[in-house]
Amino acid sequence: ALQDIQAPVAVAIDCAGSKGMPRASGLPDSMFLSDGQMTKRPVRALTLSALAPRYGEHLWDIGGGSGSIALEWCLAAPNATATSFEPKDTRCANIRQNAERFGLSHRLQTVHGSAPAILQGHAKPDAVFIGGGNSATLLTELWQTLPEGTRIVANAVTLETECLLMNWHAAKGGHLLRAELSETAPLGRMRGWNAARPILQWSVTR
Ligand code: SAH
Repeated sequence: ALQDIQAPVAVAIDCAGSKGMPRASGLPDSMFLSDGQMTKRPVRALTLSALAPRYGEHLWDIGGGSGSIALEWCLAAPNATATSFEPKDTRCANIRQNAERFGLSHRLQTVHGSAPAILQGHAKPDAVFIGGGNSATLLTELWQTLPEGTRIVANAVTLETECLLMNWHAAKGGHLLRAELSETAPLGRMRGWNAARPILQWSVTR
C-alpha cells in the first residue's frame, strides 16, 4: 500500500522553505531535541548502515539518549518499530518529544530504566543498538537471550568499552570499525580540524 511505502511526514519539524526532509540516514543534529548526549550525524549514519533496518523490523535502542538512532531506524524502513531504553528521565522526555515531532509516537516506545534488567519482558528485536550502558553482563545476557540471527551493533568511546568490544570480537567474530572523524572549525582568521572522539563500532549477528 502507498502509505506503507512513504515515510511519515515530520509534521512539526520545520522544513518550510526547504525541499522537505532528506531521505538518507544521518539527519542534521539540530532536528533532534537533546541535552548534547547524542550520536552525532556522521557516526549516526554509519550506525544506521550497520543496523540495516528492513520492512517491519523491531529495534532495541539501549541508551536511547535523544532517541535519534531509534527515530532514524523508524524513518528508514516502512513499519519499522523501536524501543528506546533510557535511565535518565529528562532524556526519556526528550525521546518522547522527538517521537512526537517526527510523527512517530506510534512506532517508537520509550522505556525508562537501566539495561540489562529493564530489557526483560519486551518483544524480542531483530536488531539491537548499544549506545550506552554496555558491559560484559549486558553482552552476556543479550547473547544468551536473543534469538539466532539478531543483529547487534555497539559503539564505544571509552577505553574500557573498546576493550570489551575487542574481546567480544575475538570470541564471537563480526566486524570492528574504527572512525576518527574531524570537521572544520574557525581557527583565528583561518580554519582548522576539530577532531571528534574516536569511536569503535562492533557489528555482529548472533
Ligand atoms: N544514541 C543516543 C546517545 C546515547 S548516549 C542518541 O543518539 O541520542 C548514552 C546513553 O546511555 C545516555 O543517555 C545514558 O543515560 C544511557 N545509559 C547509561 N547507562 C545505561 C544503561 N545501563 N542502560 C540503558 N541506558 C544507559
